[in-house]
Amino acid sequence: MTEYTKPLPLITDLSRVFYDGCKERKLLYQQCRECGEVIFFPKKICSNCMSRDLEWKQSQGRGKIHSFTVTYSYAPPEFAKDTPYALSIIAMDEGFYIMSNIVDCDFDKLVCDLPVEVVFQPVTPDITLPKFRPRPPAR
Ligand SMILES: [Zn+2]
Repeated sequence: MTEYTKPLPLITDLSRVFYDGCKERKLLYQQCRECGEVIFFPKKICSNCMSRDLEWKQSQGRGKIHSFTVTYSYAPPEFAKDTPYALSIIAMDEGFYIMSNIVDCDFDKLVCDLPVEVVFQPVTPDITLPKFRPRPPAR
């Protein structure tokens, strides 16, 4: 693993559960036991009904591109050598949204609603980041 020089996520008691999941190749989200609200990024309290009775669930890792942008130039210095790269908001099948990169693809073929699946990229011994790649449509 070469040295990772880009910004890393801040690990808190709550986000640690999510990032520990990523290390195990599991994309975790929360759901409120009171009202059923699907929650991401991790929270202590349901944003719909204020309940603290939240449970962790494992996503199947599939979703669709909700929106995206491809950066060809003028990237922040830490990301300049990665250009071009695609940043996307992905609408997950379970009903939450996650922002991440789309990888392993021809950026000219990206479109909204393109089906994608999670892939996990270890970047440091402690941090594995979820990224997404196009997947063939279900048959
Ligand atoms: Zn709730």
